[in-house]
Amino acid sequence: MIVGVTGGIASGKSTVARAFAALGVPWVDADDVAREVVEPGEPALAEIAGRYGERVLQANGGLNRRAVREIVFADESERRWLESVTHPRIRQRIVAHLERLQAEGAPYVLLVSPLLFESGQSELADRCLVIDVPESLQIARTAARDDVDDAQARAIVAAQMPRSERLARADDVIDNTGSEADLAAQVAELDRRYRLLTTS
Ligand code: ADP
Repeated sequence: MIVGVTGGIASGKSTVARAFAALGVPWVDADDVAREVVEPGEPALAEIAGRYGERVLQANGGLNRRAVREIVFADESERRWLESVTHPRIRQRIVAHLERLQAEGAPYVLLVSPLLFESGQSELADRCLVIDVPESLQIARTAARDDVDDAQARAIVAAQMPRSERLARADDVIDNTGSEADLAAQVAELDRRYRLLTTS
C-alpha cells in the first residue's frame, strides 16, 4: 500500500514522515526525486542545457534552478516543455523507489509530496493523507523556519492550493495544530489503521 502525504508549506509533512519512520514506515520524498532527475549526468539535465545553454548551468555543471525558474516563470510554453522533460522521469523514479522499499519489506510506504494533487502523483497512491493547519499557523511556522517575513510567508501560502480543496481530496487528515506529541499520537493511530488495511 502506498500512502500519499501532502499539505501546504510548513504544515508538517517532514515531521509526519519522521514520525512514521520511527514506527518502521519509510518514505519517498518527491522533492528529492525532482532534484535527482536533474543531477549532472542525468538525461533531463542534458536536455535542459541543450535547450537553454550555459546560462542554466552552474560552474560545477549542476542546474542553476533560479535561472530555469526565471525562464519558465516568464513563458508558459517553456514551463510546459520543462514539465514534459522532468515529470515522466520524476514519476518513473518515484515508482522505482517505492517498489524498492516495498521489496525490502516495508509494511507500507509513504509518498511525501507538496504537489501530490497538483502533479497527479496522487494517482500513484492508494490513499491520500493531508496534514492540515490553519493558514495563520502555516504562516507563523514558515516565518520561524525559513528566512522569510510574515508577508512573504503569506504570499507563498496564498499561491498554493486552497486548504479546503486539499481537504476535500483527503482520505485521511492529520490536524497539526497541537504539539509534536499530539502529532505523534495521531501518526501512531493512523499507522495502526494502515497496518490493518494492508492485511485485509
Ligand atoms: P513541511 O515539511 O510541511 O514544510 P515541517 O515538517 O518542516 O513542514 O514543519 C514546519 C515547521 O514547523 C518546522 O520547523 C517544524 O519543526 C515545525 N513543526 C511541525 N509540527 C509542529 C508542531 N506540532 N508543533 C510545533 N512545531 C511544529
